[in-house]
Amino acid sequence: MSTFKAPKGTYDLLPPDSAKYLAVREAIAAPLRNSGYGYIETPGFENVELFARGVGESTDIVTKEMYVFETKGGDRLALRPETTAPVLRAVLEANLHKAGLPVKVWYSGSQYRYERPQKGRYRHFSQVGAEAIGAEDPALDAELIILADQSYRALGLQNFRILLNSLGDQECRPVYRAALQDFLRGLDLDEETLRRAEINPLRVLDDKRPDVQKQLTDAPLLRDYLCDACKAYHEEVRELITAAGVVFEDDPKLVRGLDYYTRTTFEFVHDGLGSQSAVGGGGRYDGLSEMIGGPALPSVGWALGVDRTVLALEAEGIELDIPSTTSVFAVPLGEEARRILFAKVTELRKNGVAADFSYGGKGLKAAMKGANRSGARYALILGERDLAEGVVQLKDMESGEQTAIGVNEIVAELESRLG
Ligand code: AMP
Repeated sequence: MSTFKAPKGTYDLLPPDSAKYLAVREAIAAPLRNSGYGYIETPGFENVELFARGVGESTDIVTKEMYVFETKGGDRLALRPETTAPVLRAVLEANLHKAGLPVKVWYSGSQYRYERPQKGRYRHFSQVGAEAIGAEDPALDAELIILADQSYRALGLQNFRILLNSLGDQECRPVYRAALQDFLRGLDLDEETLRRAEINPLRVLDDKRPDVQKQLTDAPLLRDYLCDACKAYHEEVRELITAAGVVFEDDPKLVRGLDYYTRTTFEFVHDGLGSQSAVGGGGRYDGLSEMIGGPALPSVGWALGVDRTVLALEAEGIELDIPSTTSVFAVPLGEEARRILFAKVTELRKNGVAADFSYGGKGLKAAMKGANRSGARYALILGERDLAEGVVQLKDMESGEQTAIGVNEIVAELESRLG
């Protein structure tokens, strides 16, 4: 072991397990690519103000969890704690919104939050996300929910639930906000929570502490305050996803940790994950563009956590079908064999056959262990006697059957066998 360890709250993705993470990212991305979403990549850090304004000054993410630093040039930057604000910043900066709406993009990458680490909650984690920017259309909200559901189903997940709510808009939410504040002021809450009730009362609904939850049973619900436009919008989202066969639960108390959400809000929770049960979430953020200095661009998006999705797979005992990456493993015995087989491996690879090689001049026994570990279907063994005869031993690692083939037939023979 070296002197160094991965920083607190982080972990390394190592083979062979890391293949699961790639497969999860791919499973989430595939339905998006198939639905008109283009790939976007933004820097791992941004001007700290983007998050302060975009995510919200009163959120835990901004007040407690951001990795903020000053560069040698005097810029105040933050490692990204989320990627919606950066994506919108990038779209506005490149004027993509002027070339036709909605702008539909997806991303995949690291997020950084200085949180108290526990299982399923890390300081460095990874999300795949999708954003549909610049259109107010319930079908777009529905599309995103359906696509997230589709990717979880494709992974074989079953024990997840979709929680759905509407947070209203700038017309009806202020009325509700005031009513909720009135209600909260009458409760027995600690000072910090009372302060939160003044700044962002909706977030108090999200308080997980039992003594707080107990007092919230009779809290006014946004559902009863939605304006007609928000009600109709929400009803249509519900109808569209129902028609698509997506099962969801109405959760009138669902709010989210980021300030920018309006109207449609949803969360994917998995029942096998204990306290960190949210595997993904998202919603509509009609005001975000204006909050960061852009034009009005009503938008909707989600982010699914890759780490927690992998944990959810484990909780359900799902083994992804990840094919072995190596098809052929070459075992040379001796100097000359090494040169010949290395050239063959290079040729196989050029022809698209996944091949690996026994390095380090190992003897037969140790080299065959490597062949086993690689998961290769075939081993190519070239010894002194084979060399003299111009052949190589082709071993089927499944049946154990071994046949001699001409050195010059290696590529054609393997291509035909691997089909
Ligand atoms: P959020 O950006 O907070 O809406 O989170 C979206 C998803 O990202 C969550 O449902 C989690 O799957 C994942 N996530 C958020 N925070 C963490 C964290 N600290 N560690 C691991 N995954 C996280």
